[in-house]
Amino acid sequence: MVNYNKHSCLERAQNLLLNGDDSMLRYACLEVRFCIEAITYEKLNAYSDHVPAKVFKKWQPNHALKMLLQFEPDADEDFSLCICPESELGKPTGNWTNMGEYRTFKLNWLNKNYNRLGSYLHMTQNSSSLIEDVGETDKIRKDLQEITCELERIINSDIIAATLSVRIQFKCQACNQLSVANETVLHKTNHAICINPRCGAEYHAAKEDNGSWKFKMIATSFKCLNCNTTSWLESRCLNIGTKFRCRSCGEVHQIIDGQWQYERESKFKKIGAQKN
Ligand SMILES: [Zn+2]
Ligand SMILES: [Zn+2]
Repeated sequence: MVNYNKHSCLERAQNLLLNGDDSMLRYACLEVRFCIEAITYEKLNAYSDHVPAKVFKKWQPNHALKMLLQFEPDADEDFSLCICPESELGKPTGNWTNMGEYRTFKLNWLNKNYNRLGSYLHMTQNSSSLIEDVGETDKIRKDLQEITCELERIINSDIIAATLSVRIQFKCQACNQLSVANETVLHKTNHAICINPRCGAEYHAAKEDNGSWKFKMIATSFKCLNCNTTSWLESRCLNIGTKFRCRSCGEVHQIIDGQWQYERESKFKKIGAQKN
């Protein structure tokens, strides 16, 4: 039985790196990629309660990494987690217990190296020689050493799938699936994307006075030319040639023209200056 947990994958990669000859390096790349995938899924577990299992299970590694980047674009701070009982709300008693250390890395680092390792799993296209030169072999070995070293530091962290931010659930209007966003990210960007890999609808998110979040799909309304019902089309799909269906009667329409208004930038600036 082969174990594909992050520790086993990293251990096999390190063994290949240490004991294998150069022809084993690309196999080591594969094991390191498995390790990164295991870490990604483990991190995503912090969100699994907020996402329907059937959506979660369909995520391929690339999409999973993309989602993690959306959830935690800045999650790159190491921290120690301490807890303490409170005598009353907001007043810790001072008896702190250290729960352990959380180590992480920039998700961009993870994403970049996942793709770099992936590029080593293919033969060079149109290569005139089938023999790899020493420079290329050395580069793969050096990259592997750097990446495995950093991964080893991370996977020996005490706390794994920790997220200190609040997760906000919303239902996607386009695909009807439940989706999730990270509140810290929403405060910064006011933007969310449906997590369904087949959908990806974009939303503008705003916090209401009562503290709840309102998600509005970025879409354009249109009137069906057959049944006159007003419906919507996602703005990211607006393009000449795009075909879309009326959600009421099913009539197919095609965008044949777009009307954008424009003016000279200097004029725009002048008006702005007058206003001020
Ligand atoms: Zn959706
Ligand atoms: Zn219609």
